[in-house]
Amino acid sequence: MAESVLEFKKVTHTFAGGTRGLSGVSFRAAPGEFIILCGKNGSGKTTLLRHMNALSLPSEGEVLVAGVSTRKNPVQARQVVGMVFSDVRNQIVGETVADDVAFGPENLGLPEEEINKRVKASLEAVGMGHMGDRRPYLLSGGEKQRTAVAGVLAMESRVIVFDEPFSNLDYPGVKQVLQQMVNLHGLGKTIIVATHDIEKVAAHAGRILVMDNGRLALDCSLEEAAPDLEKYGVRRPCASLFGREVDSWLE
Ligand code: ADP
Repeated sequence: MAESVLEFKKVTHTFAGGTRGLSGVSFRAAPGEFIILCGKNGSGKTTLLRHMNALSLPSEGEVLVAGVSTRKNPVQARQVVGMVFSDVRNQIVGETVADDVAFGPENLGLPEEEINKRVKASLEAVGMGHMGDRRPYLLSGGEKQRTAVAGVLAMESRVIVFDEPFSNLDYPGVKQVLQQMVNLHGLGKTIIVATHDIEKVAAHAGRILVMDNGRLALDCSLEEAAPDLEKYGVRRPCASLFGREVDSWLE
């Protein structure tokens, strides 16, 4: 495998009170991979995601982001790994769309000229170049997600993590966000999608991680995982999607 952009090394997370959120989780993600993360409720997905950008730190083991431990450099982890949460309302902080996208680069202390350049390019990349002056609360669900994606792009994140991206979206919104993921993947970004809706991303993902009771139960291709998914409380996607020729959500 090429150099990892993200590596979990025997990561265990024990909450105050003793609950194990993660137990000995190890995997590596290379630049340009498209990975699905799934598992039933309480299996440890959110805890795993929080370790990817140093929102949580391991009780044991370590997480390396671009080769550097999140414990040593949490700021770098937050820059390299961008998160797009399902309820983006909580993620949007700016008065206007452009202010919101500028928030991350401003926190990096970049010069104003560089910030403006990044905001413009990021909004254009998500097809919202003409919407910088809009009020975020007036946007549709899909546009809010794309604003959050533009914020991550403005940070020049190499890994983009989507947490339940489809849960609050109607069909056009799902298509917009899915198209966005495919475009970002085309730009060489590593895409990680935590979702119960495997079918929506099945045609694009080369790999699936399945969590079960804090452990990484499966780490393989979708085809290999399919026979075992039900065992871990995950609905098996329709077999016709495995051929990759079919993309029922974008075509
Ligand atoms: P998922 O995202 O797959 O639903 P989580 O990562 O949220 O799972 O939770 C994994 C386990 O850790 C569950 O047993 C959950 O109850 C527990 N857990 C999550 N957050 C906390 C917390 N702040 N304190 C104690 N236990 C927690």
